Amino acid sequence: MSVDTTTPTPPFTATVPGTARIGANRELKRAVEAYWAGRSDRAALEAVAAELRASDRRALVAAGIDSVPVNTFSYYDQVLDTAVMLGALPPRVTTIDDPLDRYFAAARGAGNAVSGLNDPGADGVAPLEMTKWFDTNYHYIVPEIGPETAFSLDATKVLAELAEAAADGVAGRPVIVGPITFLALSKAVDGADAPLSRIGEVVALYVELLGALADAGAQWVQIDEPILVTDAVGDLPALAEDVYTTLSAVSARPRILVQTYFGDARESLAALGRTGVEAVGVDLVAGDVDTVAAAGLGGKIVVAGVVDGRNVWRTDLDAALRTLEALRGGVGSLVVSTSCSTLHVPYTLAGEDGLDDALRGWLAFAAEKHAEVVALARAYANGRADQAEAFDAAAQALTTRATDPRLHVESVRTRLSALAESDWTRPDSAARRTVQDAALNLPALATTTIGSYPQTTDIRKARQALRTGAIDDAEYTRRMQAEIADVIALQEKIGLDVLVHGEPERNDMVQYFAEQLDGFFATANGWVQSYGSRCVRPPILFGDVVRQSPMTVDWIAYAQSLTSKPVKGMLTGPVTILAWSFVRDDQPLADTAFQVALAIRDETVDLERSGAAIIQVDEPALRELLPLRAADREEYLRWAVTAFRLSTAGVADATQIHTHLCYSEFGEVIGAIADLDADVTSIEAARSHMEILADLNAIGYRNQVGPGVYDIHSPRVPDADEVTASLREALAAVPADRLWVNPDCGLKTRTTEEVTEALENLVAAARAVR
Ligand code: GLN
Ligand code: ZN
Repeated sequence: MSVDTTTPTPPFTATVPGTARIGANRELKRAVEAYWAGRSDRAALEAVAAELRASDRRALVAAGIDSVPVNTFSYYDQVLDTAVMLGALPPRVTTIDDPLDRYFAAARGAGNAVSGLNDPGADGVAPLEMTKWFDTNYHYIVPEIGPETAFSLDATKVLAELAEAAADGVAGRPVIVGPITFLALSKAVDGADAPLSRIGEVVALYVELLGALADAGAQWVQIDEPILVTDAVGDLPALAEDVYTTLSAVSARPRILVQTYFGDARESLAALGRTGVEAVGVDLVAGDVDTVAAAGLGGKIVVAGVVDGRNVWRTDLDAALRTLEALRGGVGSLVVSTSCSTLHVPYTLAGEDGLDDALRGWLAFAAEKHAEVVALARAYANGRADQAEAFDAAAQALTTRATDPRLHVESVRTRLSALAESDWTRPDSAARRTVQDAALNLPALATTTIGSYPQTTDIRKARQALRTGAIDDAEYTRRMQAEIADVIALQEKIGLDVLVHGEPERNDMVQYFAEQLDGFFATANGWVQSYGSRCVRPPILFGDVVRQSPMTVDWIAYAQSLTSKPVKGMLTGPVTILAWSFVRDDQPLADTAFQVALAIRDETVDLERSGAAIIQVDEPALRELLPLRAADREEYLRWAVTAFRLSTAGVADATQIHTHLCYSEFGEVIGAIADLDADVTSIEAARSHMEILADLNAIGYRNQVGPGVYDIHSPRVPDADEVTASLREALAAVPADRLWVNPDCGLKTRTTEEVTEALENLVAAARAVR
């Protein structure tokens, strides 16, 4: 096939970089989980997958999308799919013959490492690691590139999805993760050099792939390079120019769209402009239209992502059209798109019957966003009048949103504008320590846990029964109190020093608070894939945040009434609440964070008044919102730290504030951890051999710290010797009077048997070392 690169007219006008694949009613989740559990067979799974792909294609075509992305389906993750395509699975899984079982083994382990997998034919295969996809809440599988990795092309999946669409009458545009992004996100193992050192070999496979796609009749291919919006690796623009000069020089190939998203690709855009690719996709929500206009893309088709693909707000169509018009003439031609794949938002507003009309009018989920893209493309081609109805409705919704009293609550606004540094600053931590020690009288190496205890079937049943009305509030409270009493008794029996209530009443550490705060609402079916078959249903933070009454005090006070040991109050911090919600986009994130912080602050004050001497405010997501560009990070960390401190500085010196952070690579947030100024910080450390402690020492951190002494993510129970060894490792870095002994995260995913044994060993180890 020959490519005519002289014509600037785009052969399509409206598209999306990708869509969700889990199913509007999580059909894929149910199908893969049934397959894993051996409750259904391969044919049943494949039938569900094919039907989902077909219905997604039909929906896009019906919406008026005139270039349909394909190969966006995945049984687990698109980065893992790319590893398969490039022959880059690690040797420990390649012993599994069946391709699908091998794939699932790479994703989630096999044999002893996972229960109920359809006979994977291997014994105890550890899964690949998983980590966050850029700054989203989606998690991808991290490919392992070792000296033994021998790349080879397996284009089965992409060719099959292309053919399937063609059979359905759809000329699909295959979407693949790009070579630079793939290698930049991979990790070197077994002493190999950085994966990017293998770029030449991998690009050779993409050359081969382009030929195969052309042979199969593909007119276009979309190659995703979101890594270009970061500065994660050196000289990305030069690398991009190099790679895409090579790929565009392939003689028989589809037209190439290099798609960027989640930010501004800056110099890389100009670099791509110098290559022979036909189109460049840009994120005009997170990125900047002037940058794109100045990038020298005069000869290129620009796929302009003006509809936000990762938040839930209805687009200001007039503003989006102005953005498109700003590019007219300056670029070769224009295609309208979402800023990124709509993988990151729920499927549709249809069925969200619990919303009031105003709220509904402000929102757009994937289906509604796809319609917005089409309306914008038609207005760009034919003028606003052509789409007057859609534009007027959007403008109308915007007006009601700007004037709705729930978005402008005077009491909160007044309180915020009166804040001063003293509101987020506690007295010197050493002075606090003295009064806290006197009040608490704890031993050195005090033992505690992170908050949650196993979420048993009884707990889930009670929650379900309350929802369906089978039990009333009083009965629900009685059952939760019984759970709390059990957990308190268990902790006393084990001999822990600082107890927790176990969090039985929390469905989720963010949703629990969102349900009780004004300014949030929960969707009925707003599920979004988090990883593999796991979905989350983030609350929507739409208005000013107001706490009407205490949210946790009764539970904590009840727990405290059962024991003479201190029970920690347990709250979620403002940054984490933001990170795991869809957040209003009409004011700076920092302002919203401070509002949430004030609500949490009021809760800490009420907890203190009810008798809590220790309060933990969890911020496991502190690192998640870290901006992709290094230059933007300082500002983020400044407001994030301030929000946490605002939420914890309202209590007396004698009240001990704990925080919990749960990831092991702290890197750039290490300084922020110290700045949080919690009296005690518990952190994940077991898997990284306490390295975090040396890092904290290096920045002069002097508050108390509870490095996790064992990994709760595995069902394996550590024996006392193992915990003792961990503890000694920690003691080499931090003296006993600053060290706490705890697991590295909450225990809700474990069984009571595992937890009991592990904590008995933890207490035994602490006593032995004391
Ligand atoms: N307190 C929470 C728990 O124990 C913390 C969870 C987390 O770190 N993600 O479950
Ligand atoms: Zn944790």
